[in-house]
Amino acid sequence: MNIYDEVKGASTIGISGHLRPDGDCVGSVMGLYLYLKKVCPQARIEAFLEKPADIFACIKGVEEIRTDFVTDIENFDVFIVLDAAKDRIGKAEAFFDAAKKKINIDHHVSNSGCGDRNYIVPSASSSCELIYDVIEDKSQLDEEIAKALYIGIIHDTGVFQYSNTSPSTLKAAAELIAYGFDFPKLIDETFYEKTYIQNQILGRALLESILFMDGKCVVSMVDRKTMNFYQVEPYDLDGIVSQLRNTKGVECAIFMYELKSLEYKVSLRSNGMVDVAKVASFFGGGGHVRAAGVTMQGTFHDIVNNLSSQIALQLK
Ligand code: 5GP
Ligand code: MN
Repeated sequence: MNIYDEVKGASTIGISGHLRPDGDCVGSVMGLYLYLKKVCPQARIEAFLEKPADIFACIKGVEEIRTDFVTDIENFDVFIVLDAAKDRIGKAEAFFDAAKKKINIDHHVSNSGCGDRNYIVPSASSSCELIYDVIEDKSQLDEEIAKALYIGIIHDTGVFQYSNTSPSTLKAAAELIAYGFDFPKLIDETFYEKTYIQNQILGRALLESILFMDGKCVVSMVDRKTMNFYQVEPYDLDGIVSQLRNTKGVECAIFMYELKSLEYKVSLRSNGMVDVAKVASFFGGGGHVRAAGVTMQGTFHDIVNNLSSQIALQLK
């Protein structure tokens, strides 16, 4: 796909990504937004997302994101959904449905493509790597676009550690850092650095985690009361599930936090033996083989039991 060919001539272009946007989601939306503003100066371009975490304030234009969504449903000439299918973009789904042309770019294996034009590449590390691909004219890239795309790549690859890192990922990253931004600082400040409170709640989640299935699975949960006590938002809990997966002997890690009474957001991680996308998809979620998520209803124990029975099928 050459994204410029797909949108040229459009007067209005909308871009969105998934709820609770992560680094890849914010990076790809902003990378594409900055690029389209540059190559389609005559068009009105809007990005719609829930408010990104403060760490992403370093991305140019992030304050221009429409986080309110309060506007009459308008018929964008083109509406582009990144890093998700349309069922996970919240209120932006109405814009997508009303658009004259719908485009979907994603790397989730559970997404079969919801646009008129789809660019879905499950082998890609990140949606940011895909945005780098679809910007065919690389001479239009600049330091700010490169920075946004680089952030998404490092976040979705765990700084080039996960198995989704390929030679193409590293080639893209190599060309991006040539724009000269301070990448060690970017990695530190958006990926590794944690606030004191984030570390405290990580510590608590680890302390209260439970090993089961002969040590092959580990689970931990943070309830609303605890989140309120520490005054944390969902994005403050990022990274807890990866730390749980680092437990020696663990094949599958489960972390969940309470959304409301009897409803939990579940994150799953594996080391490859268990396909967690399959487990999440069974309950209506999705993701990748080694990292997936789903929202589930029920008590903590019901949810763990339901997940366990699906995980056990694969661990046999
Ligand atoms: P996380 O656990 O970090 O929220 O998500 C892990 C992976 O699964 C990410 O690629 C994310 O986009 C995907 N994912 C998380 N929650 C959901 C969900 O509810 N539905 C789908 N389809 N994918 C999800
Ligand atoms: Mn992603």
